[in-house]
Amino acid sequence: MSRLDETHDPARRSWVEGANDASTDFPIQNLPYGAFSRDGSGDGGAVRIGVAIGSQVLDLTTLEEQGVLRPGGDEAVFADGTLNAFMALGAATWRQTRHRIADLLDAANAPTGDERAQVSRALVPMKAVRMHMPVFVRGYTDFYASREHATNVGTMFRDPDNALMPNWLHIPIGYNGRASTVVVSGTDIRRPLGQLKGPQDDAPRLGASAKLDMELELGAIVGTGNPMGQPLGTAQAYDNIFGYVLLNDWSARDIQVWEYQPLGPFQSKAFGTSISPWIVTRDALEPYRAPTPERVKPLLPYLEEETPNNFDIRLEVDLAPQGQAATTISRTNYKYMYYSAAQQLAHHTLSGCAMEPGDLLGSGTISGVAKDSFGSLLELTWNGRDPLPVEGGTRTFLEDGDTVTLRGWCEGDVRIGFGACSGTILPAPDGVPA
Ligand code: CA
Repeated sequence: MSRLDETHDPARRSWVEGANDASTDFPIQNLPYGAFSRDGSGDGGAVRIGVAIGSQVLDLTTLEEQGVLRPGGDEAVFADGTLNAFMALGAATWRQTRHRIADLLDAANAPTGDERAQVSRALVPMKAVRMHMPVFVRGYTDFYASREHATNVGTMFRDPDNALMPNWLHIPIGYNGRASTVVVSGTDIRRPLGQLKGPQDDAPRLGASAKLDMELELGAIVGTGNPMGQPLGTAQAYDNIFGYVLLNDWSARDIQVWEYQPLGPFQSKAFGTSISPWIVTRDALEPYRAPTPERVKPLLPYLEEETPNNFDIRLEVDLAPQGQAATTISRTNYKYMYYSAAQQLAHHTLSGCAMEPGDLLGSGTISGVAKDSFGSLLELTWNGRDPLPVEGGTRTFLEDGDTVTLRGWCEGDVRIGFGACSGTILPAPDGVPA
């Protein structure tokens, strides 16, 4: 059954400023959710829930207070500055709310009278808001789903002839990351300290990471949980995902290489993970569904998918040294991922692991086949062997003051954009207190 409806109609236009520009990430067909505040607005900087439309943010917290929009009935779900309570209402409510918001913003069918005035007053210019974490991240799991990325890393660190581990073609590989250091785009990232040990060193030393890297990923946000002991199939897992964000899994390669065996990454990934502020809903992405690549080996039946559950999302990475213009260092597409987020979520629950609204799943670094489509500096510079030209110099890994910005969008009759996910590197702490 097609999931497409009038909210996806490319002919639909909005009466809101900037919403019909061909270049906007946020036409009426998108309607991504975020959390924002307004400095100097007289409300004490309260964090509110909003939807991006053109150059504006529609304040859903206010519309809920006024009764224009009541997705939770008597329960206010946009009042606490996160989307967790709204997400917990489930997919049918997400869909109804999307329809209601689209109707309020529709040029052909715009509300009139008091309602039109209320909606107009609830629009805030995007340039006047500060964005916050859109969800309380309950848990963060990072996967490793790009065959190209896993092959590149295996070639560099292990054995070019057996670059993929034997389990990789059968199982979505992942590890439990840190939810506490998932931060919204625009948050600075401090270079981490760690134990460092080169191959020729007799013993490790304490120092600042000299191989600080980024990882281009997509984050899936679980909206509907599953009880402990009850695994999900891939179709249900697909439906339980509320939406997607851009995700930068900052990584310290020199800390990683010393610590990662036998239990996987730990401090090398725990110091910061950035996400874009606007959650593009699964509903908005429906027209851009794409199949996963052809299976090299058959999957166990619980991982098979009857529908295309990947998405055709174009992705770019910009790197700007301090005071310099940005250079686009990678261009790729999410559709190359070998495992979909639905497969990852299904596998995550297989043992009976409970998932909750606000759980975040990182896709794993998104790398294509061509060298300019790799999703990390580790691959783009081949572990520092091939410096990358950027404005004003070259890079092997990130330097202090560098800003990395991820962008993503679906291209078709309309542009469904994710906005940007950026972060700037601050110098490492002077040391560890005695
Ligand atoms: Ca990662």
